[in-house]
Amino acid sequence: MPAGYSARCKVCNSPHRAMIEQWAKEDGLSPRAISARLKEEFDEAISHKSIWQHLNEHFDVQAEAREQYQKSQAVMEKAVKKQLSDIEMLDSIARESYDLHKSAKEWLKELVENKGKIPKSLVDLLSTTAGEVRQHLKAKAELLGDDPESRIADAMVATLEELQELYQDANSRQEGTDS
Ligand SMILES: [Zn+2]
Repeated sequence: MPAGYSARCKVCNSPHRAMIEQWAKEDGLSPRAISARLKEEFDEAISHKSIWQHLNEHFDVQAEAREQYQKSQAVMEKAVKKQLSDIEMLDSIARESYDLHKSAKEWLKELVENKGKIPKSLVDLLSTTAGEVRQHLKAKAELLGDDPESRIADAMVATLEELQELYQDANSRQEGTDS
């Protein structure tokens, strides 16, 4: 991004102008060091005074800084957007698992209340969905850098363990009446 140009400036007219500006901007070289490096790498002779003058008069440091800043902002924005869409995806997967988990739990409760036989597949579904919800919420917490939701998931799985006890009680009771 050339900020200025002078027909009499050696740097402005050098094929290595961009390189010279990069050495100044990114490597932080002094005009004297740039002059030496230019001679060494490209066998081009430009005095450090000419380089100093070019950097002061024809090189817009602020514009360069602005450009760098905008670039880093764009990169950051993109990363944040990606993270948000990851979280949204996790939310929707977790919600599906949770809805399934909830209805399985209600069904189980109903069976327990009516002293019905509880299918093993229902208990499996409960533990699978609970595991899924827990996993997605943990992944989300990792993305967000906090962990309160996985504690909620832990609490939910504890409830599941209680339900499994109920399941065992109900089924053993039933086995008792069957015989
Ligand atoms: Zn110049």
